[in-house]
Amino acid sequence: MTKQAFRYTHYDLKAQPAGTVVEVTLSCINNVRLLDGRNFKLFQTLKPHKFLGGLAKISPTRLVVPQGGHWHLVVDMDGLPALANSSVKTIVPGHLTSARQMQATMPVDRAFLADTAARALGDINADTNGAERIMENMADAPDDIEDIRRELDTYKRLANTDALTGLNNRRAFDMQMKAIFSTADNLEQTALVIGDIDHFKSFNDTYGHPVGDLVLRSVARVLIDNLRGNTFVARTGGEEFGFIIRDAGRSTAMQIADRVCTAVEKATISDPGTKQVYGPVTISMGLCMAVESNGPEMLYQKVDTALYASKRNGRNQCNAYHESMEGNSVQYATG
Ligand code: GH3
Ligand code: MG
Ligand code: MG
Repeated sequence: MTKQAFRYTHYDLKAQPAGTVVEVTLSCINNVRLLDGRNFKLFQTLKPHKFLGGLAKISPTRLVVPQGGHWHLVVDMDGLPALANSSVKTIVPGHLTSARQMQATMPVDRAFLADTAARALGDINADTNGAERIMENMADAPDDIEDIRRELDTYKRLANTDALTGLNNRRAFDMQMKAIFSTADNLEQTALVIGDIDHFKSFNDTYGHPVGDLVLRSVARVLIDNLRGNTFVARTGGEEFGFIIRDAGRSTAMQIADRVCTAVEKATISDPGTKQVYGPVTISMGLCMAVESNGPEMLYQKVDTALYASKRNGRNQCNAYHESMEGNSVQYATG
């Protein structure tokens, strides 16, 4: 098996709105790929022939992000010197806060690497446990694939991450919900809260989808900033967020949820590029203690009932589940 040096540099471009221009300056290059972080599908490859021989003249070069979302940029290099004078930055209108750079040098069989990566990426699309399985299969592999192992670890983390907000995603949320009931401990001190942004559709309709995305990211930030670091927070759907409060009884959990509602209402939501301020944005929430349910489905259903009560009662509030809310099928006003 022919072994050769393989180098790559991975830049995490984070969430970027559509139209963001990514400027890539490279000292030498094999090829550059723009990867959609939502599903790791390859979006764009700049082939070597576009660069070789004329790199110094055409670098920096620019790629345009075709749609809002989390993007990655991967630079492949075959045995070429490290990217000494390279940089990646976004020009307009995105803001690249930290281009995380991971460099690796490893003697590895390229066919094996390509096969592993293809399997990892394919499996992540089809079955998000794929990365874990590959890592188990590689348990006996030699040390020189430690970097691949680390890379797969990254994929595994991304499989549980919502690309737009960086919060946990629905998959991670569902696992966490199951975990609540896997040990019957502490159900009295565990609360599920679901929040749904009020009138979000009209926000999108008025300002457009990219601004809607900005609102989602901003609300996610408010949740993170106002909840303890060990509180599990997820984006559970379009404009819906869930968090699991532990070690708190019902009244403490309600205080926490109320505090988050108020923080969302008071938050200043502004576009870092244009500085335009949007809002105020409000969120309605429902809360239910885990002990009031016999499993994840019932808990989610009860929280949903409480959330709809908050919508009916005028939005921008949190209500705890009560059985008197059941059977109230009157649709809340959507206008
Ligand atoms: P309510 O107060 O009753 O919750 O009203 P609403 O407008 O928030 O609720 P509705 O369910 O009618 O609309 C939700 C909207 O969320 C519709 C959909 O276009 C939008 N949405 C869902 N996911 C995303 C996303 O990822 N980005 C953006 N910008 N919008 C999204
Ligand atoms: Mg909704
Ligand atoms: Mg809504």
